[in-house]
Amino acid sequence: MRWCRFNDGRRGLVRGGLVYDVAALVEKCVAQAELGPGDPFVQVLDQVAAAAADADLGEPVCNEADAFYESPVAAPTKVIGAPVNYHAHLKEAVEDREINYGRAVERIEKAGLFLKATTCLVGPSEGVEARFFPDRRTDHEIEVGVVIGREARSVPRERALDHVAGYALALDLTLRGTEDRSFRKSIDTYGVLGPQLITPEEIDDPADLSFSLAVNGEIRQSSNTAHLVVDIPGLIAWASSWYTLHPGDVIMTGTPEGVGPLEPGDRMDAVLSGLMTMTVQVR
Ligand code: MN
Repeated sequence: MRWCRFNDGRRGLVRGGLVYDVAALVEKCVAQAELGPGDPFVQVLDQVAAAAADADLGEPVCNEADAFYESPVAAPTKVIGAPVNYHAHLKEAVEDREINYGRAVERIEKAGLFLKATTCLVGPSEGVEARFFPDRRTDHEIEVGVVIGREARSVPRERALDHVAGYALALDLTLRGTEDRSFRKSIDTYGVLGPQLITPEEIDDPADLSFSLAVNGEIRQSSNTAHLVVDIPGLIAWASSWYTLHPGDVIMTGTPEGVGPLEPGDRMDAVLSGLMTMTVQVR
């Protein structure tokens, strides 16, 4: 199934290219649930899905191409990043001083994961505000985003995917500079998630997802999750062995080669092959 948050906080179910407002179903399920830590909507996703299967959803609100998309997760407890998690991006990060700022680039196994402030998250329609432009460089990083569906604590990799609520496109925007990575990646609007949350039964193989990013129509990044250094089950197992993952937590799984600078006015078009696209404006 495909879920979204759109048009000023409405909850949507996308069916046949049309967006249906399921706010009433979500409210009912949230009211009946015993909620724990984490995003309330993600916690009741299974119940909402079951209720939506039987319910009359009424008239669609709009075509999916016309929705104003916000982040499908409103209240994650963590947004987790995976530094230099594609082999070819490791090579470019080591070789390009504009990227590494003169610091040694460590392999992910040594560097560990990092956190982005949850307040950085926006949806694609909200756009990205390039801060400190033109004095400092803001780079795009296209990634596959994984949303945790149920609590994960020291989960073995064989069972890691049981804890996934769904997948989305993600942008892990980065201000270049000398500050700690987490600080530079936590600026408001420097995390984009969307446009929709696609649940796992629609994904053939999370280890074979092709994705790309074009800026002003020119392809800058293009890869496949097959080229990850630490794959998606590995990331969930690793993260959950250090801290508890709650429903709605987002893992941005890492960016491939081709990162580069953005300017106000740029238009980013991201594609998750065969599944969805999103357009994000830079201002
Ligand atoms: Mn990243």
